Amino acid sequence: MTSQLGPPGCGTGSQGRRRSPLPWGSSRGGWMDICLGCYDPAHGCGSDLMFRSLPTLGTVETAKSTPVRDQATRPHRPFARYGSALHLALPEPLRAGERLALEVSYCTGSGPGVCWLTPEQTAGKQKPYMYTQGQAVLNRSFFPGFDTPAVKSTYSATIKVPEGFTAMMSATTWEKQEKDNTFIFKMSQPIPSYLIALVIGDIVSAEVGPRSRVWAEPCLIEAAKKEYDGVIEEFLVVGEKLFGPYVWGRYDILFMPPSFPFGGMENPCITFVTPCLLAGDRSLVDVIIHEISHSWFGNLVTNANWGEFWLNEGFTMYAQRRISTVVYGAAYTCLEAATGRALLRQHMDNTGEDHPLNKLRVKIEPGVDPDDTYNETPYEKGYCFVSYLANLVGDQSKFDTFLQAYVNQFKFQSIMADDALNFFLEYFPELKKKGVDSIPGFEFDRWLNTPGWPPYLPDLSPGDVLMKPAEDLAELWAASSLDMEAVKAVDISAWKTYQLVHFLDKVLQKSPLPDGNVDQLSKRYPKISQAQNAELRLRWCQIILKNNHEAEYGKVRDFLHSQGKQKYTLPLYRSMWSGSESAQVLAMETFSATAPQLHVNVQNYIKKILAGADSVA
Ligand SMILES: [Zn+2]
Repeated sequence: MTSQLGPPGCGTGSQGRRRSPLPWGSSRGGWMDICLGCYDPAHGCGSDLMFRSLPTLGTVETAKSTPVRDQATRPHRPFARYGSALHLALPEPLRAGERLALEVSYCTGSGPGVCWLTPEQTAGKQKPYMYTQGQAVLNRSFFPGFDTPAVKSTYSATIKVPEGFTAMMSATTWEKQEKDNTFIFKMSQPIPSYLIALVIGDIVSAEVGPRSRVWAEPCLIEAAKKEYDGVIEEFLVVGEKLFGPYVWGRYDILFMPPSFPFGGMENPCITFVTPCLLAGDRSLVDVIIHEISHSWFGNLVTNANWGEFWLNEGFTMYAQRRISTVVYGAAYTCLEAATGRALLRQHMDNTGEDHPLNKLRVKIEPGVDPDDTYNETPYEKGYCFVSYLANLVGDQSKFDTFLQAYVNQFKFQSIMADDALNFFLEYFPELKKKGVDSIPGFEFDRWLNTPGWPPYLPDLSPGDVLMKPAEDLAELWAASSLDMEAVKAVDISAWKTYQLVHFLDKVLQKSPLPDGNVDQLSKRYPKISQAQNAELRLRWCQIILKNNHEAEYGKVRDFLHSQGKQKYTLPLYRSMWSGSESAQVLAMETFSATAPQLHVNVQNYIKKILAGADSVA
């Protein structure tokens, strides 16, 4: 494909092709080839080709370059509100073994997968910035393609950028041609389209390990290097020991501008992460372990459709906690897992356990954007299911070996839950013989197809040593007559972030606290109420709102101005909107001030919340 990239307003059609997409000057160009082959020896293939693209993606022209015959083309036909089909009709079906080369020229402007930031929306506030975010089905606003996780391919790209900018992609190799500021990328392993990612900005890098660099705007690079120097390699080595070879070559981390809506996006070779991870104390590295775990689960073995998202996320949560247990021990890992369980509890309380999205296998009807089904269930209920499988095996090292065999069996493929579960039963024939897939109450079918709380919860008691003091302290703060002597006797100065998070989760559960207690709690623990760590700030803001503690509303406003991560932003808007009149005013004011710096999806979800039309919590 010949593609032109330009910020919103670059237009469609031949006019857009000529217009210079400001503020990127004359920058554009790049070639990607779509090569298709017909691999059905018995029947040959059809004559219809359907690509997915968004209306914001203006197709300039579709050139015929098939070596065998001419092809006819038809314009876009709608297939969903979040995209339309670019329909190519071939004059006759492809024969077995035949190959087809297509060239599509198009121009992309605004679109949910292609984010154009003004200098003010970056950390450095000097230069514009662009990045793409493909998951789940957003890359169809980046380039026309099949855009389903069921299809994997390699890719290469040539990206020309203006002077003073650097381009990076999720590619195994890259090089820069200095003479014309052009970057050449090649991804030599097959990946699904949602993992093709591009960033262009004033970004620099620093080495933090033998196969790892951090990338960030110049003003963040020192902090990034300090936070991650020397820690990545250890996670990679442990991951390889547990799950098999790391196949992607390098593992880099890119710290995004503050408006990045996700905690992390596991783009192969270069994970994109929120700058919120620069906590200054290495306390949020579990997000990096999570993204590294996707190198095996998700990127190598991929869910074949978005209704089976738990295969990506449930296995990754399990892998993340295996690595974490090896590196940090069981107590810390169980504490972090308890935080995850609390999020699942919160989600199910908000939606009701029987909500159809609280199943592991979600039915995504045609026309429904998979992103609208996003919630904690595939992560934490998925984790419980994988833990249940491990529990059936009853031996950690045997289950670790199984995971390695699973990755090896399905690497570079896209699979369904049935593939994974059948492989499990084949791998452990004695379990299959015992009929472990149909133990009453724990049937595999129930796990997949029944909404609600997981029938099995892994034992998190090794975390008690860290959790119990936090729970006891929360109990003290919830008492109507505050026992300050008992409170003062608890020293939290050595508590780690997740211990504080657990304490705050319990305080939140018990909120609203008796009058005056939140104010005293705030003064007693500046470590919490003045925290810069995003996980602590989120919880503290939630506590402020649930207790209608207006004196600290400014902290909610500041936090929402400082970042746009979806997992932090939406819960706070939900709390504000379901709170007092003053909280609702705060929501309106904050949204009108911050909307332009938010990702368009996040903007839309907030609009839904403010219109009272929010369906998923
Ligand atoms: Zn993930």
